[in-house]
Amino acid sequence: MNILGFPRIGEKRELKKALESFWAKKSSEEELLVVAKKMRTLHWEYQKNLLFVTVNDFSLYDNMLDLSYMLGAIPQRFQNLKGLDLYFAMARGNGESVACEMTKWFNTNYHFVVPELSKDLHYKVNAEKIIQEYNEAKALGYIPKISLIGLFTYFELAKIHDNSSKEEAFSQLKKAYLELVKSLTTLDEEIIIEFHEPIFVKGQNPLFSEIKDVYDTIVDFGIKAIVSTYFEASNEATKILVGTKIDGLGLDFIYGENNLTSLKLIADAGKKLYAGVIDGRNIWVANLDSKLQLLDRISIIVPKDLIHISTSCSLLHVPFSKDSEVKMDSEILSWLSFAREKITELELLESLFRNGITESNRKAYEQNQAVNATRKSSNKIHDVKVQHRVSNLKINVRSDTFKERIKIQREKLAYPNLATTTIGSFPQTPELRILRQKYKKGEINTNEYESGIKDYIKECIAFQEQIGLDVLVHGEPERNDMVEYFGEQMKGFVFSQNGWVQSYGSRCVKPPIIYGDTSRPSPMTVRWSSFAQSLSKKIVKGMLTGPVTILNWSFVRDDLPRHEVCKQLALCIADEISDLQDAGIRIIQVDEAAFKEGYPLRQENIKEYENWALECFKISSSVAKSSTQIHTHMCYSEFNDIIKTIEAMDADVISIETARSGNELLKIFKQVGYSNEVGPGVYDIHSPRIPSVDEIYKQIKLLLEVLPQEQLWINPDCGLKTRKWEEVKPSLKNMIEAVKKVRAEIDK
Ligand code: GLN
Ligand code: ZN
Repeated sequence: MNILGFPRIGEKRELKKALESFWAKKSSEEELLVVAKKMRTLHWEYQKNLLFVTVNDFSLYDNMLDLSYMLGAIPQRFQNLKGLDLYFAMARGNGESVACEMTKWFNTNYHFVVPELSKDLHYKVNAEKIIQEYNEAKALGYIPKISLIGLFTYFELAKIHDNSSKEEAFSQLKKAYLELVKSLTTLDEEIIIEFHEPIFVKGQNPLFSEIKDVYDTIVDFGIKAIVSTYFEASNEATKILVGTKIDGLGLDFIYGENNLTSLKLIADAGKKLYAGVIDGRNIWVANLDSKLQLLDRISIIVPKDLIHISTSCSLLHVPFSKDSEVKMDSEILSWLSFAREKITELELLESLFRNGITESNRKAYEQNQAVNATRKSSNKIHDVKVQHRVSNLKINVRSDTFKERIKIQREKLAYPNLATTTIGSFPQTPELRILRQKYKKGEINTNEYESGIKDYIKECIAFQEQIGLDVLVHGEPERNDMVEYFGEQMKGFVFSQNGWVQSYGSRCVKPPIIYGDTSRPSPMTVRWSSFAQSLSKKIVKGMLTGPVTILNWSFVRDDLPRHEVCKQLALCIADEISDLQDAGIRIIQVDEAAFKEGYPLRQENIKEYENWALECFKISSSVAKSSTQIHTHMCYSEFNDIIKTIEAMDADVISIETARSGNELLKIFKQVGYSNEVGPGVYDIHSPRIPSVDEIYKQIKLLLEVLPQEQLWINPDCGLKTRKWEEVKPSLKNMIEAVKKVRAEIDK
C-alpha cells in the first residue's frame, strides 16, 4: 500500500498559522520548524501500516519551489539572500524583488512556484531538506520513501528566461538534478524514491528520448526508483519506462482508465505496479466492491505480488480528515472520505484483495457496502423533477443571431462606444467581512445585516455615478466567494466546516461539495440587483457565476458524469437569469473564471469537454431575451487554443484579462473574425499600483489598432474585491479620464 503524499497544511491548518505568524515576525524560525517537524511526525504515524512513509511531500510552501531551492536554481535577483529569507522571497517577493510566478498544477486548484531557468543560474545542489526529513522518519523506525518531482515534469513546467535553447536548458538542469539525486545515495543502504512525472500524461514529447538514459542513470546510482504519473493515462511514457531499470511504475486508474491497456507491457517487463485505485482528488467513500473488481481485472495480467494498491495521486488535493465535521448531515458525512479515511480504505482494500473476506475485515467491509447502498438510493440525492428537466432539455440557443440581438440591445440599452464598466466586485473591506461573519454567527439580525449590505451598495452606486461609468455593478458585498455564495443557496450542495485544501503557500480553499441533484429553490441574487438598480437610472449589471465554474471549483459527486451535473447547474443559473430579466435587469454577466481550468490534459479528450461545457453555458444563457445582454468574464489571457469555443459561447460581451499582455492577445480575436463585443482589461488589478491616465490611454489606443471602437468595452482586468478603495477610486477615475480623451479625439 502506498500514498503519493499527505496533506501538509495540518488538521487545524497548523502550518498556515505557523507560517503567517512567522511572516508577521511574531514567531521565530525555530518555532516554525518545530511546528513543521511535529506535523511530519504525526502525519507519518497515520502511514505506519503502509509499505513506507512518504518523506519530502511536506513543504513550507511548495514542492516545486523546494526543488528549485535544492538545485540552487535561484534567479539572479535573489542571489544575495540565504535560507528561509531566500526561500520565502522566491515565493512571495520581498521589498526589492518580485516573487516568482505561480501557476496551477495541472488541472487542480493547487498552485506551484514556476522555476525560472537561464544560463546564468549557478546550480548548486543541496539536499539538506530531504536528508533531514529522511533521518527524522528513519529515527522513528519507519521505512522512508522519498517523494520527488521528476526531472521531466520540473523542466516542462519551468520557464526559460533567456535565449537558451530547450536542449541547452535541459542538459544543464539534468546535470544538477542527477547530482542532487546522487547525493542522496549516502543516506542509506537502499534509497527508495518515487519520482512524480505527471507531465507524462500529456503524451509524446521530444524529450521522451531522454527518459531511458535519465532513469537508468538514476538506478545505476543505486536507487530503487518508482516513476508515477497521474491525472490521466500515460501509455506513451509507460512504453519507454518498462524498458528502463526502474523498479516500478505508478499509474492512475481513476482518471486514466486507459492505463489498463499498458498492463501487459508492465507484466512482461516484470515491473512492480503501484495501482492508483483510491481516488486522491475526490472525497467520496470508495466502493470497495468495484475497487476489487478493478484490481481483479488488473491482476489477471499483472501478478498479484507485483501489485501495490495506491492512491491515484497525492492526497494533497483532499482535506485532512472528517473528524471535526460535527455539523454536517450525518448521512451525507457517511459518504465522504478525506485523507485519513482514505488511508484506512487502502488498508481495508489491501486486506480484502490479499485475503478475501475474513473475520477481521468483515465488519468494515459490510459497513462499506451499506454506506454505498444508502448513497445510491438516498432520497437526498435524487430529485426526479431535476432529472426530468435535464432529460427533456430542448435545444439551447438564443432565438436571434448576435447581429440581430446587438441591434436591439444597442437601441434599447443605448450605451456609447468604448462603454466603461467593471467586472463586478468592489473592495471587500474588513467592515464588510465582520458584518457577514456576525450575521453568520447570529450576532446581528437580518435587518442589521441587510442594512449594512444596502449601505455598501448605495456607496458603490454613488461612486460609480459620480465618476461616470456607463454600466454599473452592485459590488458583490454579500458574497464571500463567487462559488460558495451560490452553492449555499442551491439544493444538492453541502459545506464542510474544516474541509480545507491547500491552494498555495498558506492559502487554503474549502470547496463546496455537490452530493446530489441540484436545483435553485428561490432567486439568489435578484433582491440585491433590484435594489442596486432602483438607485440609478443607469444600467446595473446582474452578476452570476457560470455553471462550468461552479462545477470546476467544487468536489463533484462521482455517481453521475460531470457533464450531467453541469447541466443541472446550468438550469439553476438559467432560472436565475430568467428571474433577473423579469425583475428589469437588462445586462447579466455570467462569470466563467474556471472554464479553462477544466480542460482535459490529453488532446483527445478536449473536444468532448468543450462540447458539454459550451452546451452548459448556453443552457444558462439561452433563456435571455434578445434584448437582455449577456456578458461573460474569464480571468486569463491565453485564448489561442480555445478561441473557437469562446466564439461559440456567443456571449454578447466578453471581458478578459489583457493588461499584462498588451494587445497581443486581442489579435487572435481579430484573426478568427470574432464579431461579438469584447472588454479587454486595460489595467492590472493584481497589483496595488494606480495606473495613470496616460498609461490607460495608450493601452486603449493599442486596442483600437486591433478592434474597432464599436466592438470594444473598457474595463479593468478582473474583479476589484482584493483591492483597497484608496487604490480603486483613483484607478477607475483615471480609466474614465483616459476613455474621455480617446473619445474626444475620435469625435474631432
Ligand atoms: N464578478 C467576479 C468579481 O468581480 C468575478 C471574479 C473572477 O473572475 N474571478 O469578483
Ligand atoms: Zn477575473
